[in-house]
Amino acid sequence: MGRQDWARPAVLLNPLEGEPTDADSHIGGPMLWPIDEPWPSCDEHGEPFVGAVQLYQRDFAELPFPDGIDLLQVFLCTLDHDAEHAYGPDVRLVWRDSTTVFELIEEEPEPSVQEELYVPTVNVFEPIRYVEYPTPVERPEDLRDEEWPETSSGSKIGGWTAWWQSGPLEFECPECGSVQRQTLSLATHEPSGDDVEWEFGSEGNLNVLLCTKDVRHPAQVLID
Ligand SMILES: [Zn+2]
Ligand SMILES: [Zn+2]
Repeated sequence: MGRQDWARPAVLLNPLEGEPTDADSHIGGPMLWPIDEPWPSCDEHGEPFVGAVQLYQRDFAELPFPDGIDLLQVFLCTLDHDAEHAYGPDVRLVWRDSTTVFELIEEEPEPSVQEELYVPTVNVFEPIRYVEYPTPVERPEDLRDEEWPETSSGSKIGGWTAWWQSGPLEFECPECGSVQRQTLSLATHEPSGDDVEWEFGSEGNLNVLLCTKDVRHPAQVLID
C-alpha cells in the first residue's frame, strides 16, 4: 500500500467573520430552529445548549447526509464535561430537513453561565477542498518516514485526525459496533489565522466521530 491508499477527501471550513442568517452555513450564527420543537438542553447542567455550527448540504455535500436530510446542526453545552477523551463542552448533533421548517423560534435561549472559552464568534465559511493524509503515527511502519503533506489541524470536514496530545485511538459505535470516523473537527487555531476564538483542550481540536453505518447513531467526541 502506498500513499494514495491513505488519501481521504477533506474540506477546510476556513471560517471568517461574517453576518450569516439561519439560512446560511456558519459558526456561531442564528440556527434554523422550528418554533414548535424544544430547544436542546444539557442533561448534566440543565442549561440550554448553544448553537455552534450549521452546515447545509448545498454547501457541504461531502458530509454523509442521510436521505431527506439537508442540514447538520451542532450544539455545544458551553460548560465543562468530564467525558472520556473529551474534557470540555458537550456536543449535540441535529440532522434536519430544512424544507419542513416554516415558523422559526423567536429567540434562542441563552445559558445563564458559560465558559467564555467555548463561546464562538460569528463566522461564515470560505471552504477549501483538498486531499488529506494521516499523521505518521497513524501510518504503517514502512510509510512513517515518508514526507507527506501535513494533516491539517484547522476546522474541517472529513480527512484525518491531527493527533496532538493523545495518540491514535479507534472509536466504535456504541449502538452497532461499526467503526466510527472523524467527520467534523472544530479547531482552536485556523491555518488562516482568523480563529473562531474558542479553545478546545490545550489549544487543540474538538473532533466529532460518527458511525460509518448510520450517522444518527450516537456520536463520540475526542478533544485533543
Ligand atoms: Zn452541560
Ligand atoms: Zn452505529
